[in-house]
Amino acid sequence: MNKKITKYTSAAILITFVTGSLYVAGLMGVSTISNKLSPKINSQTQLEEVVEREKKKLDPLNKFNISAKLSPRKVAVSRSLRNGKYEIEIDENYATESRVKHELYHIIDGHCDDVYMIKSKLGRNLKYLFWYEPQAVIYQSTGLKP
Ligand SMILES: [Zn+2]
Repeated sequence: MNKKITKYTSAAILITFVTGSLYVAGLMGVSTISNKLSPKINSQTQLEEVVEREKKKLDPLNKFNISAKLSPRKVAVSRSLRNGKYEIEIDENYATESRVKHELYHIIDGHCDDVYMIKSKLGRNLKYLFWYEPQAVIYQSTGLKP
């Protein structure tokens, strides 16, 4: 009896793990392909221009104050500075128009603020992976707002 339960539990864990891995790989794959096909950004000035241009599409009323920096660190991230301002930090490897769209979507759809409302780390990670991230990937690769 116990052995049977253990067997089913192991199978359930394995299926969850495999499905989860495929999902994450798929998400990352779409994001990576979109980045590869997208025009590169090579300078701080160009980054600011792309942010300005792309921000108009997502934030036509200009409600968000967003700065961007081309970073020497290996990073592609958007964050709330928690003073009404937001920041995108991105390094040269990740700096494409597609990735800028992705990070802008996180900010303007409120993901960077929402995340502070969720107390548990597991809850934050799950919401990020299954709610925020797919939306940002859909926007960066199709231009559609989910
Ligand atoms: Zn993201």
